[in-house]
Amino acid sequence: MTRTALPTTDDLRARARAALKNIGVDVAEGAGLHARTPLTGEDLFGLSAATDGDTEAAVAAARAAFLTWRTTPAPRRGELVRRMGQLLRDHKSDLADLVTIEAGKIRSEALGEIQEMIDICDFAVGLSRQLYGRTIASERPGHRLAETWHPLGVVGVISAFNFPAAVWSWNTAVALVCGDTVVWKPSERTPLISLACDHLLARAVEEVGAPSGVHRLLLGDRAVGEKLVDDPRVALVSATGSTRMGREVGPRVAARFGRSLLELGGNNAAIVTPSADLDLAVPAIVFAAAGTAGQRCTTLRRLIVHRGIADTLVERLTAAYAELPIGNPFDDTTLVGPLISVTALDAMRGALTRVQAEGGEIVAGGNRCLAEAAPEAAYAEPVLVRVTEQTDVVREETFAPILYVLTYDTLDEAIALHNDVPQGLSSSIFTRDQQEAEIFLSAAGSDCGIANVNIGTSGAEIGGAFGGEKDTGGGRESGSDAWKSYMRSATNTINYSSELNLAQGVSFL
Ligand code: NAD
Repeated sequence: MTRTALPTTDDLRARARAALKNIGVDVAEGAGLHARTPLTGEDLFGLSAATDGDTEAAVAAARAAFLTWRTTPAPRRGELVRRMGQLLRDHKSDLADLVTIEAGKIRSEALGEIQEMIDICDFAVGLSRQLYGRTIASERPGHRLAETWHPLGVVGVISAFNFPAAVWSWNTAVALVCGDTVVWKPSERTPLISLACDHLLARAVEEVGAPSGVHRLLLGDRAVGEKLVDDPRVALVSATGSTRMGREVGPRVAARFGRSLLELGGNNAAIVTPSADLDLAVPAIVFAAAGTAGQRCTTLRRLIVHRGIADTLVERLTAAYAELPIGNPFDDTTLVGPLISVTALDAMRGALTRVQAEGGEIVAGGNRCLAEAAPEAAYAEPVLVRVTEQTDVVREETFAPILYVLTYDTLDEAIALHNDVPQGLSSSIFTRDQQEAEIFLSAAGSDCGIANVNIGTSGAEIGGAFGGEKDTGGGRESGSDAWKSYMRSATNTINYSSELNLAQGVSFL
């Protein structure tokens, strides 16, 4: 595997400052939080974390703004999101720089993340004229039934490090056109891109004359998130992150009868059948498993391959893995950047030790790289492991580029293995057999929120609803009718007759 040379922390600090300056953010250095880069593993700046008072003020401002925003016509709310989308377009390159510096994404994926933000703004602007309710046939003469949709209130957005900007935009663009206001608690590992996004939205707010409290940013760790979780003024908590986080957040929000939208961990698999086109499957598998250094919620973690083609496929994947350039994500030739931290690398090594003890065989990759050039950083070769059983470690999400390869004999067995994990986010099948594809997509097939054919598990478009079942939390964000999670519906019965007709033929008086 080739290695690309790393930049210095000083270079990265200067590049981050330049990007922030172009966007218009003046970073005030402070204490309590560190902006850090996984490219070298070193700190860039000290920043101030939000205090309890800041959190209180942010929620109060968002609640006050909601009282105006909820009655602003939805297409006018869309004007704000249209302007936000334009500003994201204007600053795409600078924003992508910050994603690379803080999350370690290669340039093409960082630009893709910002494009996804632009796409959801376009979608939300259209949505602002399509918040449709139904008219329902009434059983009573002279009556009409209607369903209307109203804004919910303040939405607390808690986001993860690996999509530090896009997840915010999926929530915020849709919440804003729905008439909600937003308080955002981003990952403590990605404060700079958060400051940049907040600044651009604040600029759009000012330019279109929206209430300034429609959006507030709170930098800090989980303690700041917990304040939002427990605050009864926060109508919806939309939280993206690990299943561990969701297990803590979900019950706390439910205890106060708040709403939550949970987007949690995945353990995504692809089934490769004997008829699969391997020329298509191999690059799709490598992108899904090794892309973003295995740090997408939709990363391909399990490959379930028909026994008859397993050796051939593993051989081809091993050859492809051997060619993966690892290193500086700003270098156009690099395909695999760093893991977010040495702790993540330790978790990867721990999983590999466990799987080997359980009989797994590492067939490609798995070594740490660039440790001399950047001892605080965590670069690792994506790894392929052949396993004979779906043991406990295989059933867990290890947030690193480990692909476990299992074999099967019948499609029923493959689907059973596929679904036999706690998570239910993304899935795919590689086949040229229409019957196999349809079975996989049917009610008896994949149990995930995303089920694909002849394409990998990662890289969703914004037009569809995004989310998963079981330990993935059940939430849906982004496109389709995910907007309904950000609104409340009311059923209206309107009597335009002069008679009092009771439903179900009840007579009274
Ligand atoms: P994480 O769970 O460590 O943190 C996510 C966010 O939750 C952070 O902002 C953190 O400060 C906050 N947080 C943590 N505990 C909290 C608590 N008890 N109360 C309130 N807030 C709390 O996750 P991470 O390491 O940043 O991200 C990786 C994880 O996120 C992976 O498991 C990945 O699969 C998942 N993820 C899921 C999706 C999805 O859409 N399903 C998308 C991206 C990432």
